[in-house]
Amino acid sequence: MKDQPALPDRAWPRAEGSWGRSLRIFTERDIERIPALQRLPREQRFAMRVVARVLPFRVNEYVIEELIDWERVPTDPVFQLTFPQPGMLDPADFERVAHALRRDLPRPEVDALAHEIRAGLNPHPSGQQELNVPRLDGLPLDGMQHKYRETVLFFPSQGQTCHSYCTFCFRWAQFVGDQDLRFASREAQTLHTYLKQQREVTDLLITGGDPMVMKARHMERYLEPLLGPGLEHVRNVRIGTKSLSFWPQRYVEDADADELLGLLERLVEGGRHVALMIHQNHAQELRTPMAEEAIRRVRETGAVIRSQSPVLAHVNDDAASWSELWRRQVRLGIVPYYMFVERDTGARRYFELPLARAFEIYSAAMANVSGLARTARGPSMSAAPGKVEVNGVSEIAGERVFSLRFLQARDPAWLHRPFHATFDPTATWLDDLKPAWGEESFFWEEDFAAFRRRREMHSMTAVADGCEA
Ligand SMILES: *Cc1c(COP(=O)(O)O)cnc(C)c1O
Ligand code: SF4
Repeated sequence: MKDQPALPDRAWPRAEGSWGRSLRIFTERDIERIPALQRLPREQRFAMRVVARVLPFRVNEYVIEELIDWERVPTDPVFQLTFPQPGMLDPADFERVAHALRRDLPRPEVDALAHEIRAGLNPHPSGQQELNVPRLDGLPLDGMQHKYRETVLFFPSQGQTCHSYCTFCFRWAQFVGDQDLRFASREAQTLHTYLKQQREVTDLLITGGDPMVMKARHMERYLEPLLGPGLEHVRNVRIGTKSLSFWPQRYVEDADADELLGLLERLVEGGRHVALMIHQNHAQELRTPMAEEAIRRVRETGAVIRSQSPVLAHVNDDAASWSELWRRQVRLGIVPYYMFVERDTGARRYFELPLARAFEIYSAAMANVSGLARTARGPSMSAAPGKVEVNGVSEIAGERVFSLRFLQARDPAWLHRPFHATFDPTATWLDDLKPAWGEESFFWEEDFAAFRRRREMHSMTAVADGCEA
């Protein structure tokens, strides 16, 4: 571990242009101070304040001024993605908070109400904590998850926030100050010790929040030791981030931008596959010269950029949005990786789509892109037993069925083996589905139940998406 930040190996030339925007952030308390919002009716701003008391709100000036088309508000996809909308809360909850704000109740009272409403929104689907937390010498490692044999997820404590917040994101539990809900670890040492013992782990996935909010010197503490002895088996380093969309300046003109790129380059030169797992919901996020410049500079390090994102009502629930996103990504050298189905947490009621609809969007978008963009798999549910892809809808043995398969599984033996569920046009998640042809269970269910009994776990929903994977 070093005290001095390492110097970049070489200078990273910048494109010409006028840059220089500072990271100016607005949160719930600043809603009335956002100039762009002044054009909206007062009632609409009030509704935003109501929702932002419950769900986290944070947006920066770059997103407001360069990614949102204010002419198209409220339907603009990036506006929907970052600004609180009335439909995100249950109408009764909305009214309770609205009432409290109108009566000007003291802040702690409104906080208590907001806390109660959040608690009802299921901030921790699937016992993510209990089921996937690894142990070192018998002690649980809080800042990590180890669900699939080859991959360890690490949540650095300095990376548990984001440059802006996505309104759909289940990570909100981590952002709203419920400290006990945080997964975090200050322990780079613990991470490396655990990895040294786990010889089957090939992939380290750094996630958050958004780990790219961290200073480069923190990132170095976590990643540089991978090049040292004992960690040769960790071949692939992925960093989950939305920064290419929300703050591309991170790679261009932040004070330590070059230091960060230098780190990525050293890992690549050390023989590691380095991937930025970016999260992009809409092509609009790619439209600025700053974003293009950031992509160019990241790719110059030899790191690969792969993109994944959920399909969401109000944001990207149409095939044209996806084919445009994938086409633009391919043009810029980004590899489309996953389309996720949104899971049951937070503002689910607002964003969720039936699986059948998600599959329609996916297949229509695929039909409209080059084979180079058909690397995106999905629509995929990150459920407790693994990532389950909806592969098709067909008529088999007299029944309309969903064909499904695991893209990632708790037991690698389950991978890529097709299984079928009775078609249900309203189903939105794996646990809404019933095995086809009256069969009693899916082929993997017995093994999975045994696994859960071993872990004394009973819940069966989701585990991961967003910026995580
Ligand atoms: C998606 C995911 C991974 C990575 O899976 P890949 O298919 O290798 O991209 C790892 N851990 C968890 C918990 C995940 O959800
Ligand atoms: S999706 Fe990613 S960037 Fe958006 S709020 Fe969640 S963790 Fe942050």
